[in-house]
Amino acid sequence: MVSERKQADIAVVGGGILGLAHACVLARRGRKVVLFERNPQARGASVRNFGMIWPIGQPAGEMHALALRSREIWLDVLTASGLPYLPTGSLHVAHREDEAELLREFAEIAPGQGYSCEWQEPGEILRRSAAIQPAGLRGGLWSPTEITVDPRRIVAGLPDYLRSLGVEFRFGEPVRRIDLPTVETATEQWQVDAAIVCSGEDFETLFPEVFAYSGLTRCKLQMMRTAPQPAGWQLGPALAAGLTLRFYKAFHICSALAPLKERVAREMPEYDRWAIHVLASQTEDGAITLGDSHEYGACPDIFDKPEIDDLILKEAATFLRLPDPRIAQRWNGTYAIHPNKPFLEAEPAPGVRVVTAPGGSGMTLSFGLAESVISRGGF
Ligand SMILES: Cc1cc2nc3c(=O)[nH]c(=O)nc-3n(C[C@H](O)[C@H](O)[C@H](O)COP(=O)(O)OP(=O)(O)OC[C@H]3O[C@@H](n4cnc5c(N)ncnc54)[C@H](O)[C@@H]3O)c2cc1C
Repeated sequence: MVSERKQADIAVVGGGILGLAHACVLARRGRKVVLFERNPQARGASVRNFGMIWPIGQPAGEMHALALRSREIWLDVLTASGLPYLPTGSLHVAHREDEAELLREFAEIAPGQGYSCEWQEPGEILRRSAAIQPAGLRGGLWSPTEITVDPRRIVAGLPDYLRSLGVEFRFGEPVRRIDLPTVETATEQWQVDAAIVCSGEDFETLFPEVFAYSGLTRCKLQMMRTAPQPAGWQLGPALAAGLTLRFYKAFHICSALAPLKERVAREMPEYDRWAIHVLASQTEDGAITLGDSHEYGACPDIFDKPEIDDLILKEAATFLRLPDPRIAQRWNGTYAIHPNKPFLEAEPAPGVRVVTAPGGSGMTLSFGLAESVISRGGF
């Protein structure tokens, strides 16, 4: 039974990073915002990721510019909220000649396209990070732009900062209907001028017709985390290696990509089968987050595959040395993704926006995307 009727300027649905980012940008513009999260605390992709704010992965042009703008807002919000982050930068390391060739090519072209990055020889790479396997190291790509956050702390901590800007939170309140000016949960009815729906990979509850025709699907990733490394050991820059070069669209400008992909397909078909690459980031407590794999489909397998974790750890050992590599946690995460759009934005009714599916780049793009949606939409 709906028992109360309340008012705000704008309702935001979803307490993941996209919902929080939209609420933040709106509140900073003086709008009265109410944010609904169906769970007592957010449990989706936004608390299951590496916490990498990773502009280096975005393709040159519009998306890279959006990622850089997003990073700027992230830094401003992190500073204002006092939430921790590590200005780590990133390293892509090469232990194979074709990986080195691609990274050298990227380092030549990319600065002309707005990226701050450079090729570095093995000695410089090893000075930057004690975590790199020196045997067979050919060099790597250093970029100072990337930052690392602990997603669990950020998603838990941002609501306090947003409350200080006047945002009201309704945790444990699934929104079941939006028919402006009414937004309805199981126990409350709100009157609002507009609504922004950031419901992540929930395609069924609100505006299922938008999702049914959108082309969106789901992607499940397997992840691991070590215990905190001993004696304050620091990873340094967040790390990627050769297999990652197949994934991030930034590297599509490189002519060395096609032969590298062919070599991986030939030599390591099991890594293509589960779309595995290996990234490593460190949280403030010293633990190292490792992943990942990609299983696509509307209904991803609920069970994790031990062989995927084994493949991730086997590949990690080719470029990474950790003082304590023992795994303390394993989990999976699922995000929404469009096969050929960087995110989905739809207007299912006047005054309502659905914003979702930034794929594997939602942490990176969140604040920039929110600012762009809100400015273009006149909210
Ligand atoms: C394993 C993994 C690693 C990743 N690593 C990175 C990374 O390092 N860097 C990066 O940039 N990106 C990364 N990503 C991608 C990023 O995490 C996602 O793109 C992003 O978190 C999506 O945010 P979201 O707010 O759209 O979705 P979610 O975090 O899923 O949030 C959606 C929220 O909406 C709520 N909700 C849904 N329907 C309703 C309703 N009707 N009423 C109320 N609440 C509702 C849900 O409960 C949920 O909390 C990774 C993703 C995964 C899974």
